[in-house]
Amino acid sequence: MENRPFNDTSYEQYLNEARVMGSRCRKCSALALPPRPICVSCYGNEMEWVELKGKGKLAAFTSIVVAPPFMAKEGFGRNNPYIVGVVELEEGVKAVARINGLDVKHPDRIRVGTPLHADFASKGEGPARQTSLVFKP
Ligand SMILES: [Zn+2]
Repeated sequence: MENRPFNDTSYEQYLNEARVMGSRCRKCSALALPPRPICVSCYGNEMEWVELKGKGKLAAFTSIVVAPPFMAKEGFGRNNPYIVGVVELEEGVKAVARINGLDVKHPDRIRVGTPLHADFASKGEGPARQTSLVFKP
């Protein structure tokens, strides 16, 4: 089984391996994404890794026009906004992530409930490689 600690570092390692891994409480089955060492529901500390399918639907979204510096460096901003959304996964847990492939210039045409699936956006090489979870239709 998976022995990695239930923290952001492990979560990011799994993303580098193109896997969406959350934690599940052995007592009450509550899921957490990103994984947490303590159950968000019953505060128990017996967790297990669970691989999520990465399929879900858009629950809420916002269009970001004032980009943080690392996004501005990639050319995002007032004239090139991007979308961050809440995705409700099939397993019942919600993920907050960037959403690609939606009509960012016409946010009024984006529909809550749009089916989405996980994708992995990597930058950098070797040990410096960083992968973030994104979703797309
Ligand atoms: Zn629990």
